This record gives sequence, C-alpha cells and structure tokens, in this order.
Amino acid sequence: MGGTNSLSRRQWVAGASGLLLAGATGKAGEKAASGQRSSLALHGGEKAVKKAAGSGPRWGQPERQQLDAMLQQGSLFYWQGPQTKLLTERFREVCPAKYVQTCSSGTAAIHIAVAAAGIGLGDEVITSPITDIGTVIGVLYQQAVPVFADLGPGTYNLDVADVERRITPKTKAIIAVHLTGNPCDMDALKTLADRHNLVLIEDCAQAWGARSRGRPIGSVGHFACFSLQNSKHVTCGDGGVVGSSDERFGPLLQKFGDKGGDRRKWGGFDAFATNYRMSEPQAAVAAAQLKRLEPIAAKRARLGNLLSEKIADLGGLVPHQVHPEDRAVYWFYMFRMRPKAFRCGRSEFVKALLAEGAPVSGGYIAVPLYGEPVFQKHGFFAGRWPVKEMGLTTMDFSKHKCPEAEAILKTGIRVTIEEHMTEEYIIEVAAAIQKVARHYAA
Ligand SMILES: *Cc1c(COP(=O)(O)O)cnc(C)c1O
Repeated sequence: MGGTNSLSRRQWVAGASGLLLAGATGKAGEKAASGQRSSLALHGGEKAVKKAAGSGPRWGQPERQQLDAMLQQGSLFYWQGPQTKLLTERFREVCPAKYVQTCSSGTAAIHIAVAAAGIGLGDEVITSPITDIGTVIGVLYQQAVPVFADLGPGTYNLDVADVERRITPKTKAIIAVHLTGNPCDMDALKTLADRHNLVLIEDCAQAWGARSRGRPIGSVGHFACFSLQNSKHVTCGDGGVVGSSDERFGPLLQKFGDKGGDRRKWGGFDAFATNYRMSEPQAAVAAAQLKRLEPIAAKRARLGNLLSEKIADLGGLVPHQVHPEDRAVYWFYMFRMRPKAFRCGRSEFVKALLAEGAPVSGGYIAVPLYGEPVFQKHGFFAGRWPVKEMGLTTMDFSKHKCPEAEAILKTGIRVTIEEHMTEEYIIEVAAAIQKVARHYAA
C-alpha cells in the first residue's frame, strides 16, 4: 500500500506465470540485431553506471547518546534494564506483539519460538530451503526435523501448495521466511496453518519494516522473529527479538531465552533452555537504530520497486515479484534470467554487469540448505542424527528436492539495494541491465 509499489496486479500475475514459458525470448530477443557491434563495458565500451552509489553512516549521534545514557546505569544486565525496556517498546511500534523477548541473534529468536511452541522429538517443521541456516538451527537443536518446501519462481518465498503437499501427521509448524524482506503470502499460510492446527512462525530477519497487505510484518503468525545482525536493516552488531501475542506461547518466551528459568522468581526450573540473553549495550544501540527504521524501509522499498519498473519490459528477465499490496523492503533485490533467452550463461551476464558498474552477484546461498554437507551427511550432532537413528524420521536430505529453489539459485542475479543509494543511481543500474540483456538476447 502507501503508493510505493508501482507494479500492477497484471504484472504480478504475469510475473508468476511468465516463467513457465521456458525459452520465451520476449521483446529483448526480438530487438537484438544480429551482428551488431558490442558497446559493452566488458568489451571496452562506456560504462552504463557513471554515478556513485551514494553512501552514508548507519549509526552516529543517536546511538552515542543512548550508550551514554546506558553508562549511567548501575547494571548492564537485560532483566528490567532501561535499554531493554526501550528496545521492547520501540519494537512494539514496528511489530505489535504482547510478549517480547530480546535475545542474542535471529537464530536465537527462532530457537526460542520453536521451543516455546513445544516443538520436539521427531516433529516436522516446514520451511524454505533458501534462507540463512539460522532458520533451522533451533529446529534441529530441539530434535525436530526441518522439511523444505519449494518456492514461488518470482517471489522466492514458500509455495503454499507445495507446503500443503508436505504436511504429514508429524507436522507441527511452518516457518515462513520473508526472503529479502518480500512478505510471504501470509493469508494463505495462516489459513493452511489453522486448517491443520500448525504453529506459524515468521522469520522476519530480512524484513524489518515490511508490510503484508498493510499489516506489519510478523503480526499474522504466532511468532515473529527478527535479527539485529550487522547485515540487517537495523543492527547492534548481533542481536535478535522474538515476539508473540498468543497467550499459550508468549509467556514462555522469557524462559526459553534465559536458561529455562522465570526471572520473576528465579529457581524452580520447569523448562530447559540455553542462554540467549541480549545485554544492555546491545539493547541501547538497537533501540536507537529502530528510530531509523522507517526511512530505511521506505527508501529500500522505493528503490527496489523502481528497479522492477525499469526492467519489467525486458522479456528475458523476471523482475523480483512483489504483491502490489505488500511492502517489500529489499534486503537485496533479485531478478532471474529466463532459460534460453540469452546467448550467454549467468556468469558471463554477471561479469558484463559488473563491468558496467552495476552492484550485482550471481545467486544467493550456494545451494539450498539441504544441499549443505551437514544435511547431506545428516551429521548434526557429532556426526550423528539421533532422531533418524531412533527411527523417528525417514528424512533423507540427500534425496530431498525443491526444483524451483534450485533453479532460482542457478538463474538469479542479486542487485545490492542500500538506503543511501539515489534513484538516479538505480535508474543507471537498470540501464546497465537493459544494455547487457539486449546485447546477449538470443
Ligand atoms: C540473518 C538471518 C537469520 C539469522 O539471524 P542471525 O542474527 O544471524 O542469527 C535467520 N533467517 C534469515 C532469513 C536471516 O537472514
């Protein structure tokens, strides 16, 4: 909403179905004159991107002031600490959750959610294979089984129909990863989760400030998990926040973030958990950072949507697909090359774009999570996987397949989006993409 998203519903639908036409060449292909001389920067031509990207500080006076205030305190411990209180208040302005626990990372936030949801031995949790490995670390530590579902070809988020196909009597939860800050289809996921009595956990690590049909990201699922790691939209170096408004789960967040104990009456442990606490210095920086979030999110949304608009008509490329009523906050932008639309492979295309001065790279993570050696060998605990040895799962990650996710990682080209970039710069980046796409059009 809010007018920042200029892609129409028609383009949204076209983007979703267009990929099915493998080999379609589109306009760029038709226009490519045979035998034209190359003006690519890669071949000595002039660069398409002449402007500087734009830069600026990520932190400064507000963070310093907050740290100064913190240094007046007698304690730097999180429990009843003023910085933690302030961070919690400001977090609720971004994601209105009744219960909030600050913690040491996004990985910790998700682990706390999984544990608080009562997910355990042999339970199945369906999630995305293209994500940070932190999405599933907590699942595995609780002795549950991650089940990877396939993704939408242009959204790079969970394909709800494939999630449904992978539901079994053992399924307990879905972790919806809002990859790159592009909201998942939360209405469909919530409906599905409710129908099968599943817990819905939102991994919002890359999605600070995003909105799903106007709702704050993290406000539809039972849990909202955020990361404050250095690469995210707002940061304190490392940190995380987990929120829940569900009366069954919310009251357990503090316990599962802090050694299984209730801080109001320490002792008498009736749960078991590790120490995932965040300290007051981290909370001070994070609280100051949250004040910066809205302009950062708004700017990234505008820049990413602008890039989509400018490359929408290049037939060989699929722009990043965002629902017109959502706000994606582009932790990064990714478009895809259609198969057979170009006379070159991705690495040549990326090399040509880099020569033009465009901030790009091929793909994202090297392989879907299940392709990583630790999954292929099922070697999670000193080389072993108790759940499998106990016969509580038949999961074999070496046979797991998510064809679209694999194709996304092979054909995707990532464009860096950063809040200090100017619209003029993004327009030049789009021109570089256009130039390279026209040159190599099949
Ligand atoms: C960064 C990230 C995490 C993990 O967060 P950390 O703070 O690094 O532990 C989890 N999921 C996604 C999608 C992420 O991008």
